[in-house]
Amino acid sequence: MSVIETLIQRRDQAFGVGAPLFYERPLQVVRGEGAYLFDAEGRRYVDLYNNVPCVGHCHPRVVEAIARQAATLNVHSRYIHDGAIALAERLAGLHGPQIESVVFGCSGTEAIEVALRMARFATGRSGIVCSNATYHGNSELVGKLTHVGSAQPESEHVHAFPFPEAYRPLRQGLSEAELCDAYLERVADAIRRFEATEAGFAALIVCSIFANEGLPDIPQGFMRKACELAHAAGGLVIADEVQAGYGRTGGWWGYDSEGFAPDIVVTGKPMANGIPLSATAASHDLMNMFRARTRYFNTFASSPLQAAAGMAVIDVIEEEGLLESVSRVGEAFKAGLVARKDASPVIGDVRGRGLFLGVEIVKPGTREPDSDRAAWICNQLKDRGYLTSNAGVFHNVVKIRPPLVFSGEDAAGFLDAWDGVIADLHA
Ligand code: PMP
Repeated sequence: MSVIETLIQRRDQAFGVGAPLFYERPLQVVRGEGAYLFDAEGRRYVDLYNNVPCVGHCHPRVVEAIARQAATLNVHSRYIHDGAIALAERLAGLHGPQIESVVFGCSGTEAIEVALRMARFATGRSGIVCSNATYHGNSELVGKLTHVGSAQPESEHVHAFPFPEAYRPLRQGLSEAELCDAYLERVADAIRRFEATEAGFAALIVCSIFANEGLPDIPQGFMRKACELAHAAGGLVIADEVQAGYGRTGGWWGYDSEGFAPDIVVTGKPMANGIPLSATAASHDLMNMFRARTRYFNTFASSPLQAAAGMAVIDVIEEEGLLESVSRVGEAFKAGLVARKDASPVIGDVRGRGLFLGVEIVKPGTREPDSDRAAWICNQLKDRGYLTSNAGVFHNVVKIRPPLVFSGEDAAGFLDAWDGVIADLHA
Protein backbone atom coordinates (compact mmCIF):
# COMPACT_ATOMS: atom_id res chain seq x y z
CA MET A 1 0.00 0.00 0.00
CA SER A 2 1.36 3.47 -0.89
CA VAL A 3 1.86 6.17 1.74
CA ILE A 4 -1.22 8.01 0.41
CA GLU A 5 -3.37 4.86 0.46
CA THR A 6 -2.34 4.19 4.05
CA LEU A 7 -3.18 7.77 5.02
CA ILE A 8 -6.59 7.53 3.32
CA GLN A 9 -7.33 4.33 5.23
CA ARG A 10 -6.30 5.96 8.52
CA ARG A 11 -8.33 9.05 7.63
CA ASP A 12 -11.44 6.96 7.03
CA GLN A 13 -10.97 5.37 10.45
CA ALA A 14 -10.17 8.63 12.19
CA PHE A 15 -12.81 10.89 10.56
CA GLY A 16 -15.39 8.35 9.38
CA VAL A 17 -15.87 7.31 5.76
CA GLY A 18 -17.19 10.11 3.55
CA ALA A 19 -15.26 13.10 4.88
CA PRO A 20 -14.91 15.11 1.62
CA LEU A 21 -11.60 14.78 -0.21
CA PHE A 22 -10.54 16.35 -3.51
CA TYR A 23 -9.27 14.48 -6.58
CA GLU A 24 -9.28 10.88 -7.81
CA ARG A 25 -5.73 10.54 -6.56
CA PRO A 26 -5.87 12.80 -3.49
CA LEU A 27 -3.04 15.16 -2.75
CA GLN A 28 -0.95 15.08 0.42
CA VAL A 29 0.22 18.63 1.03
CA VAL A 30 2.97 19.48 3.47
CA ARG A 31 3.81 23.14 2.85
CA GLY A 32 2.40 26.34 1.38
CA GLU A 33 3.93 29.57 0.18
CA GLY A 34 2.18 32.41 -1.67
CA ALA A 35 -0.03 30.92 -4.37
CA TYR A 36 1.72 27.54 -4.14
CA LEU A 37 1.27 24.28 -2.28
CA PHE A 38 3.93 21.58 -2.07
CA ASP A 39 3.42 17.83 -1.72
CA ALA A 40 5.48 15.38 0.30
CA GLU A 41 7.85 14.83 -2.66
CA GLY A 42 8.46 18.57 -2.95
CA ARG A 43 6.36 18.96 -6.11
CA ARG A 44 4.90 22.44 -6.49
CA TYR A 45 1.22 22.98 -7.27
CA VAL A 46 -0.26 26.33 -8.22
CA ASP A 47 -3.26 26.90 -5.99
CA LEU A 48 -6.25 28.21 -7.96
CA TYR A 49 -8.80 27.09 -5.41
CA ASN A 50 -8.15 28.39 -1.92
CA ASN A 51 -9.50 31.78 -0.86
CA VAL A 52 -8.85 31.29 2.87
CA PRO A 53 -5.09 31.99 2.55
CA CYS A 54 -6.19 35.14 0.76
CA VAL A 55 -2.91 37.06 0.96
CA GLY A 56 -0.99 33.88 0.13
CA HIS A 57 -0.19 30.72 2.04
CA CYS A 58 1.91 31.44 5.13
CA HIS A 59 2.31 35.15 4.35
CA PRO A 60 5.31 36.20 6.53
CA ARG A 61 3.57 39.37 7.74
CA VAL A 62 0.53 37.39 8.96
CA VAL A 63 2.65 34.56 10.38
CA GLU A 64 4.70 37.11 12.31
CA ALA A 65 1.58 38.88 13.65
CA ILE A 66 0.10 35.55 14.78
CA ALA A 67 3.35 34.40 16.40
CA ARG A 68 3.88 37.70 18.18
CA GLN A 69 0.33 37.82 19.54
CA ALA A 70 0.36 34.14 20.53
CA ALA A 71 3.56 34.79 22.47
CA THR A 72 2.06 37.86 24.20
CA LEU A 73 -1.57 37.16 25.06
CA ASN A 74 -4.52 35.19 23.81
CA VAL A 75 -7.66 35.19 25.87
CA HIS A 76 -11.44 35.39 25.51
CA SER A 77 -13.22 38.68 25.00
CA ARG A 78 -14.61 39.47 28.47
CA TYR A 79 -11.61 41.69 29.21
CA ILE A 80 -10.73 44.92 27.47
CA HIS A 81 -8.18 44.51 24.72
CA ASP A 82 -7.82 47.02 21.93
CA GLY A 83 -7.04 44.45 19.20
CA ALA A 84 -10.57 43.30 18.36
CA ILE A 85 -11.98 46.79 18.91
CA ALA A 86 -9.56 48.20 16.35
CA LEU A 87 -10.31 45.39 13.90
CA ALA A 88 -14.07 45.97 14.22
CA GLU A 89 -13.58 49.70 13.63
CA ARG A 90 -11.37 49.08 10.63
CA LEU A 91 -13.72 46.49 9.12
CA ALA A 92 -16.76 48.74 9.55
CA GLY A 93 -14.80 51.51 7.86
CA LEU A 94 -14.39 49.36 4.76
CA HIS A 95 -18.18 49.22 4.30
CA GLY A 96 -20.75 51.93 3.59
CA PRO A 97 -22.08 54.25 6.32
CA GLN A 98 -24.94 51.90 7.22
CA ILE A 99 -22.40 49.42 8.63
CA GLU A 100 -21.13 50.59 12.01
CA SER A 101 -20.39 47.69 14.33
CA VAL A 102 -19.40 44.06 14.27
CA VAL A 103 -19.93 40.81 16.11
CA PHE A 104 -17.08 38.39 15.54
CA GLY A 105 -17.39 34.63 15.19
CA CYS A 106 -15.22 31.69 14.18
CA SER A 107 -16.96 30.42 11.04
CA GLY A 108 -19.14 31.65 8.23
CA THR A 109 -21.96 29.48 9.52
CA GLU A 110 -21.94 31.17 12.93
CA ALA A 111 -21.86 34.62 11.39
CA ILE A 112 -24.77 33.83 9.05
CA GLU A 113 -26.73 32.48 11.99
CA VAL A 114 -26.15 35.75 13.85
CA ALA A 115 -27.31 37.70 10.78
CA LEU A 116 -30.52 35.68 10.48
CA ARG A 117 -31.30 36.10 14.16
CA MET A 118 -30.54 39.81 13.97
CA ALA A 119 -32.98 40.25 11.09
CA ARG A 120 -35.64 38.27 12.91
CA PHE A 121 -35.27 40.34 16.09
CA ALA A 122 -35.34 43.59 14.13
CA THR A 123 -38.47 42.75 12.13
CA GLY A 124 -40.30 40.56 14.62
CA ARG A 125 -40.84 38.17 11.72
CA SER A 126 -39.13 34.91 10.75
CA GLY A 127 -39.41 34.37 6.98
CA ILE A 128 -36.11 34.13 5.10
CA VAL A 129 -35.88 34.34 1.31
CA CYS A 130 -32.79 32.80 -0.34
CA SER A 131 -31.78 31.43 -3.73
CA ASN A 132 -32.73 27.91 -4.72
CA ALA A 133 -29.13 26.68 -5.11
CA THR A 134 -27.34 28.39 -2.29
CA TYR A 135 -25.12 27.30 0.57
CA HIS A 136 -24.61 29.56 3.56
CA GLY A 137 -23.40 27.06 6.17
CA ASN A 138 -23.96 23.80 7.95
CA SER A 139 -25.78 24.39 11.25
CA GLU A 140 -29.35 23.24 11.82
CA LEU A 141 -30.72 26.76 11.21
CA VAL A 142 -28.40 27.84 8.38
CA GLY A 143 -28.54 24.41 6.73
CA LYS A 144 -32.25 25.03 6.14
CA LEU A 145 -31.19 27.44 3.37
CA THR A 146 -29.23 24.82 1.39
CA HIS A 147 -30.71 23.93 -2.01
CA VAL A 148 -34.28 24.73 -1.09
CA GLY A 149 -36.68 23.26 -3.61
CA SER A 150 -34.36 20.36 -4.57
CA ALA A 151 -32.39 18.84 -1.65
CA GLN A 152 -35.04 19.98 0.81
CA PRO A 153 -38.49 21.52 0.48
CA GLU A 154 -39.47 25.09 1.28
CA SER A 155 -40.60 25.45 4.87
CA GLU A 156 -42.86 27.85 6.68
CA HIS A 157 -39.73 29.90 7.51
CA VAL A 158 -37.69 29.59 4.29
CA HIS A 159 -38.75 30.39 0.73
CA ALA A 160 -36.50 30.23 -2.34
CA PHE A 161 -36.32 32.05 -5.67
CA PRO A 162 -34.47 30.76 -8.75
CA PHE A 163 -31.01 32.32 -8.81
CA PRO A 164 -30.60 34.89 -11.60
CA GLU A 165 -28.56 33.78 -14.59
CA ALA A 166 -28.16 34.46 -18.27
CA TYR A 167 -26.78 31.05 -19.37
CA ARG A 168 -29.82 28.89 -18.56
CA PRO A 169 -32.37 31.67 -18.18
CA LEU A 170 -35.72 31.30 -16.49
CA ARG A 171 -37.36 31.94 -19.86
CA GLN A 172 -35.87 31.97 -23.36
CA GLY A 173 -35.99 34.92 -25.74
CA LEU A 174 -36.08 37.73 -23.17
CA SER A 175 -33.96 40.85 -23.25
CA GLU A 176 -31.63 41.38 -20.27
CA ALA A 177 -34.10 43.87 -18.74
CA GLU A 178 -37.03 41.49 -19.22
CA LEU A 179 -35.04 38.61 -17.76
CA CYS A 180 -34.16 40.79 -14.77
CA ASP A 181 -37.87 41.51 -14.25
CA ALA A 182 -38.75 37.80 -14.58
CA TYR A 183 -36.33 36.90 -11.79
CA LEU A 184 -37.46 39.85 -9.67
CA GLU A 185 -41.03 38.64 -9.99
CA ARG A 186 -39.91 35.34 -8.43
CA VAL A 187 -38.24 37.20 -5.55
CA ALA A 188 -41.42 39.23 -5.07
CA ASP A 189 -43.45 36.04 -5.12
CA ALA A 190 -41.26 34.40 -2.44
CA ILE A 191 -41.70 37.48 -0.25
CA ARG A 192 -45.44 37.76 -0.96
CA ARG A 193 -46.04 34.15 0.06
CA PHE A 194 -44.69 35.03 3.52
CA GLU A 195 -46.92 38.04 3.88
CA ALA A 196 -49.96 35.84 3.95
CA THR A 197 -48.52 33.68 6.77
CA GLU A 198 -47.88 33.98 10.46
CA ALA A 199 -44.10 33.88 9.82
CA GLY A 200 -44.02 37.11 7.81
CA PHE A 201 -40.99 38.30 5.85
CA ALA A 202 -37.78 39.06 7.77
CA ALA A 203 -34.88 39.03 5.31
CA LEU A 204 -33.52 38.39 1.87
CA ILE A 205 -30.12 36.69 2.03
CA VAL A 206 -27.79 36.27 -0.93
CA CYS A 207 -24.17 35.55 -1.67
CA SER A 208 -23.53 38.84 -3.46
CA ILE A 209 -22.12 37.09 -6.55
CA PHE A 210 -24.09 33.80 -6.24
CA ALA A 211 -20.81 31.90 -6.00
CA ASN A 212 -22.06 28.49 -4.91
CA GLU A 213 -24.82 28.68 -7.50
CA GLY A 214 -22.11 28.73 -10.21
CA LEU A 215 -21.03 32.37 -10.49
CA PRO A 216 -23.73 33.35 -13.00
CA ASP A 217 -23.88 36.44 -15.18
CA ILE A 218 -26.54 38.36 -13.25
CA PRO A 219 -28.92 40.63 -15.19
CA GLN A 220 -27.90 44.25 -14.68
CA GLY A 221 -29.65 45.89 -11.73
CA PHE A 222 -31.12 42.67 -10.32
CA MET A 223 -29.69 42.94 -6.82
CA ARG A 224 -30.42 46.65 -6.46
CA LYS A 225 -34.05 46.05 -7.38
CA ALA A 226 -34.30 42.88 -5.25
CA CYS A 227 -33.18 45.00 -2.28
CA GLU A 228 -35.89 47.53 -3.06
CA LEU A 229 -38.46 44.72 -2.99
CA ALA A 230 -37.15 43.41 0.34
CA HIS A 231 -37.12 46.87 1.92
CA ALA A 232 -40.57 47.76 0.58
CA ALA A 233 -41.87 44.63 2.30
CA GLY A 234 -40.27 45.75 5.58
CA GLY A 235 -37.47 43.17 5.48
CA LEU A 236 -33.68 43.44 5.71
CA VAL A 237 -31.03 42.47 3.18
CA ILE A 238 -28.14 40.24 4.24
CA ALA A 239 -25.08 40.06 1.97
CA ASP A 240 -23.06 36.88 2.43
CA GLU A 241 -19.54 38.01 1.54
CA VAL A 242 -17.86 34.85 2.82
CA GLN A 243 -16.73 34.07 -0.73
CA ALA A 244 -17.45 37.33 -2.53
CA GLY A 245 -15.65 39.71 -0.16
CA TYR A 246 -12.11 40.71 0.76
CA GLY A 247 -10.96 41.81 -2.67
CA ARG A 248 -12.12 38.74 -4.54
CA THR A 249 -13.78 40.67 -7.38
CA GLY A 250 -11.15 43.40 -7.47
CA GLY A 251 -13.00 45.68 -5.04
CA TRP A 252 -13.48 45.08 -1.34
CA TRP A 253 -17.00 43.70 -1.62
CA GLY A 254 -19.08 41.71 -4.07
CA TYR A 255 -22.10 43.86 -3.19
CA ASP A 256 -20.26 46.90 -4.61
CA SER A 257 -19.78 45.17 -7.94
CA GLU A 258 -23.47 44.17 -7.94
CA GLY A 259 -24.53 47.71 -6.98
CA PHE A 260 -26.45 47.21 -3.75
CA ALA A 261 -26.13 48.28 -0.11
CA PRO A 262 -26.97 45.49 2.36
CA ASP A 263 -28.23 46.07 5.91
CA ILE A 264 -26.13 43.23 7.30
CA VAL A 265 -22.84 41.91 5.91
CA VAL A 266 -21.29 38.55 6.74
CA THR A 267 -17.59 37.84 6.16
CA GLY A 268 -15.53 34.78 6.96
CA LYS A 269 -13.05 32.56 5.16
CA PRO A 270 -10.33 35.02 4.01
CA MET A 271 -10.47 37.32 7.04
CA ALA A 272 -7.44 35.99 8.93
CA ASN A 273 -5.60 33.94 6.29
CA GLY A 274 -6.51 30.65 7.99
CA ILE A 275 -7.03 31.58 11.64
CA PRO A 276 -10.79 31.02 12.19
CA LEU A 277 -12.43 34.46 12.06
CA SER A 278 -15.82 35.61 10.81
CA ALA A 279 -17.93 38.70 11.29
CA THR A 280 -21.50 39.91 11.11
CA ALA A 281 -21.53 43.65 10.54
CA ALA A 282 -24.52 46.00 10.78
CA SER A 283 -25.74 49.36 12.07
CA HIS A 284 -25.42 50.33 15.74
CA ASP A 285 -29.17 49.94 16.12
CA LEU A 286 -29.26 46.39 14.76
CA MET A 287 -26.20 45.41 16.75
CA ASN A 288 -27.45 46.86 20.01
CA MET A 289 -30.78 45.13 19.56
CA PHE A 290 -29.01 41.83 18.92
CA ARG A 291 -26.72 42.26 21.93
CA ALA A 292 -29.64 43.16 24.19
CA ARG A 293 -31.67 40.15 23.06
CA THR A 294 -28.93 37.53 23.17
CA ARG A 295 -25.99 38.51 25.38
CA TYR A 296 -24.10 36.70 22.61
CA PHE A 297 -20.74 35.23 23.61
CA ASN A 298 -18.41 33.09 21.53
CA THR A 299 -15.41 31.61 23.35
CA PHE A 300 -12.78 31.89 20.62
CA ALA A 301 -14.17 34.99 18.89
CA SER A 302 -12.94 38.59 19.33
CA SER A 303 -9.68 37.25 20.71
CA PRO A 304 -6.40 39.16 20.50
CA LEU A 305 -5.09 36.41 18.20
CA GLN A 306 -7.98 36.71 15.73
CA ALA A 307 -7.54 40.47 15.81
CA ALA A 308 -3.80 40.37 15.13
CA ALA A 309 -4.25 38.02 12.17
CA GLY A 310 -7.25 39.97 10.86
CA MET A 311 -5.42 43.29 11.02
CA ALA A 312 -2.36 41.87 9.29
CA VAL A 313 -4.52 40.59 6.40
CA ILE A 314 -6.08 44.02 5.81
CA ASP A 315 -2.62 45.63 6.06
CA VAL A 316 -1.25 43.28 3.41
CA ILE A 317 -4.20 43.75 1.05
CA GLU A 318 -3.78 47.52 1.26
CA GLU A 319 0.01 47.75 1.30
CA GLU A 320 0.64 45.21 -1.45
CA GLY A 321 -2.02 46.80 -3.70
CA LEU A 322 -3.85 43.49 -4.00
CA LEU A 323 -7.19 44.93 -5.13
CA GLU A 324 -5.52 46.52 -8.13
CA SER A 325 -3.55 43.36 -8.86
CA VAL A 326 -6.68 41.17 -8.62
CA SER A 327 -8.44 43.38 -11.18
CA ARG A 328 -5.48 43.46 -13.53
CA VAL A 329 -4.49 39.78 -13.32
CA GLY A 330 -8.12 38.64 -13.29
CA GLU A 331 -9.08 40.62 -16.36
CA ALA A 332 -6.21 39.26 -18.46
CA PHE A 333 -6.79 35.75 -17.11
CA LYS A 334 -10.48 35.85 -18.01
CA ALA A 335 -9.64 37.15 -21.48
CA GLY A 336 -7.27 34.19 -21.91
CA LEU A 337 -10.02 31.74 -20.94
CA VAL A 338 -12.61 33.45 -23.12
CA ALA A 339 -10.19 33.25 -26.07
CA ARG A 340 -10.08 29.46 -25.54
CA LYS A 341 -13.84 29.00 -25.43
CA ASP A 342 -14.22 28.07 -29.08
CA ALA A 343 -11.32 25.61 -28.94
CA SER A 344 -13.60 22.95 -27.47
CA PRO A 345 -17.33 22.25 -27.68
CA VAL A 346 -17.28 21.17 -24.02
CA ILE A 347 -16.61 24.76 -22.89
CA GLY A 348 -20.06 26.28 -22.61
CA ASP A 349 -19.33 29.55 -20.89
CA VAL A 350 -16.63 31.54 -19.11
CA ARG A 351 -17.79 33.78 -16.27
CA GLY A 352 -16.67 35.78 -13.28
CA ARG A 353 -14.79 38.85 -12.24
CA GLY A 354 -11.47 39.61 -10.57
CA LEU A 355 -9.88 36.42 -9.30
CA PHE A 356 -13.09 34.43 -9.19
CA LEU A 357 -13.69 32.77 -12.55
CA GLY A 358 -15.74 29.80 -13.65
CA VAL A 359 -15.63 27.67 -16.79
CA GLU A 360 -18.88 25.89 -17.48
CA ILE A 361 -18.38 22.37 -18.89
CA VAL A 362 -21.22 20.98 -21.00
CA LYS A 363 -22.06 18.06 -23.28
CA PRO A 364 -20.83 19.09 -26.76
CA GLY A 365 -23.19 21.30 -28.68
CA THR A 366 -25.65 21.63 -25.78
CA ARG A 367 -26.00 23.53 -22.51
CA GLU A 368 -26.43 20.27 -20.64
CA PRO A 369 -24.07 20.24 -17.62
CA ASP A 370 -21.29 17.63 -17.69
CA SER A 371 -20.04 17.21 -14.15
CA ASP A 372 -18.03 14.05 -14.98
CA ARG A 373 -16.07 15.86 -17.67
CA ALA A 374 -15.56 18.85 -15.34
CA ALA A 375 -14.19 16.53 -12.65
CA TRP A 376 -11.94 14.85 -15.24
CA ILE A 377 -10.55 18.23 -16.31
CA CYS A 378 -9.85 19.18 -12.66
CA ASN A 379 -8.04 15.88 -12.08
CA GLN A 380 -5.95 16.37 -15.22
CA LEU A 381 -5.11 19.95 -14.25
CA LYS A 382 -4.04 18.73 -10.84
CA ASP A 383 -1.73 16.14 -12.38
CA ARG A 384 -0.19 19.01 -14.36
CA GLY A 385 0.35 21.01 -11.15
CA TYR A 386 -2.72 23.28 -11.10
CA LEU A 387 -5.36 22.97 -8.38
CA THR A 388 -9.01 23.72 -9.12
CA SER A 389 -12.28 21.95 -8.34
CA ASN A 390 -15.65 21.45 -9.98
CA ALA A 391 -18.47 23.40 -8.36
CA GLY A 392 -21.78 25.14 -9.01
CA VAL A 393 -25.30 23.80 -8.75
CA PHE A 394 -24.52 21.02 -11.28
CA HIS A 395 -20.87 20.51 -10.18
CA ASN A 396 -19.86 21.22 -13.76
CA VAL A 397 -18.13 24.58 -13.35
CA VAL A 398 -14.34 24.56 -13.07
CA LYS A 399 -13.93 26.94 -10.18
CA ILE A 400 -10.94 29.28 -10.23
CA ARG A 401 -10.51 31.25 -7.00
CA PRO A 402 -6.82 31.52 -6.12
CA PRO A 403 -5.16 33.44 -3.29
CA LEU A 404 -5.17 37.15 -4.18
CA VAL A 405 -1.40 37.12 -4.74
CA PHE A 406 -1.84 34.87 -7.80
CA SER A 407 0.18 36.45 -10.62
CA GLY A 408 0.00 36.93 -14.37
CA GLU A 409 2.77 34.30 -14.76
CA ASP A 410 0.71 31.83 -12.71
CA ALA A 411 -2.25 32.52 -15.01
CA ALA A 412 -0.10 32.01 -18.12
CA GLY A 413 1.13 28.68 -16.72
CA PHE A 414 -2.43 27.61 -16.01
CA LEU A 415 -3.56 28.50 -19.54
CA ASP A 416 -0.73 26.32 -20.97
CA ALA A 417 -1.84 23.46 -18.73
CA TRP A 418 -5.45 24.05 -19.75
CA ASP A 419 -4.50 23.86 -23.43
CA GLY A 420 -2.74 20.55 -22.77
CA VAL A 421 -5.75 19.09 -20.96
CA ILE A 422 -8.17 20.17 -23.69
CA ALA A 423 -5.82 18.75 -26.36
CA ASP A 424 -5.75 15.41 -24.47
CA LEU A 425 -9.55 15.50 -24.20
CA HIS A 426 -9.93 15.67 -27.96
CA ALA A 427 -6.95 13.46 -28.84
N1 PMP B 1 -21.38 31.29 3.00
C1 PMP B 1 -20.84 30.90 1.83
C2 PMP B 1 -21.18 31.66 0.58
C3 PMP B 1 -19.98 29.79 1.80
O1 PMP B 1 -19.45 29.41 0.63
C4 PMP B 1 -19.68 29.11 3.01
C5 PMP B 1 -18.75 27.93 3.05
N2 PMP B 1 -18.39 27.36 1.89
C6 PMP B 1 -20.28 29.55 4.18
C7 PMP B 1 -21.11 30.66 4.15
C8 PMP B 1 -20.04 28.84 5.49
O2 PMP B 1 -18.77 29.12 5.99
P1 PMP B 1 -18.07 28.12 7.04
O3 PMP B 1 -17.68 26.87 6.30
O4 PMP B 1 -16.89 28.91 7.52
O5 PMP B 1 -19.06 27.85 8.12
